[in-house]
Amino acid sequence: MSSLSITPYFPFCRVHFFGQRVTEEGSTLRIRPDKRYKPVCSVCSRHCAIIHAWAKRPIRDLNCGAVKVVIECRYRKVFCTNCGRILVEDLAFFEPYQRVTKRLARYIYDLCKILTVQDVAEHLGLDWKTVKDIDKTFLEEEYGETNYGDLTILAVDEIAVRKGHRQSPYRRIQESVRNRQACYTGK
Ligand SMILES: [Zn+2]
Repeated sequence: MSSLSITPYFPFCRVHFFGQRVTEEGSTLRIRPDKRYKPVCSVCSRHCAIIHAWAKRPIRDLNCGAVKVVIECRYRKVFCTNCGRILVEDLAFFEPYQRVTKRLARYIYDLCKILTVQDVAEHLGLDWKTVKDIDKTFLEEEYGETNYGDLTILAVDEIAVRKGHRQSPYRRIQESVRNRQACYTGK
């Protein structure tokens, strides 16, 4: 009897794998909350007893080798008495309103340090805006949100995003001279 298992590659808590579909386009894994655990509010992290509705969402994960992996996740919308509103439960492996797993988002951010947003989007087969928004979210977490409030003196600069100045695309950067903070980056 085989002891092979895919679960070590998906170390997600409080969920249960219940199906898998493999096609030429990739692999889809079906996940639902483990009913042994009460749902947790994604805002205040308190347990919620009132389930408002069930929902389902495809969430892109890291590729497994060359295979594209999508997690079809069932989750609950709960009424949190502490927050006083209906919210998506926290299943830890994805942000409530994102369509990629946290670990894929981290991988995207790391790639964006060495590749352009367009390169990353093409490499992973994702929408350019999805990649840009993830990169922006991580940058704001790391460096804080851009403060446009006291912009008075601006400097404009251009950087090559690849080696070789002739063919290299450039990015135009505007930065506040006072606090050396980039406030706009364009093509
Ligand atoms: Zn709450």
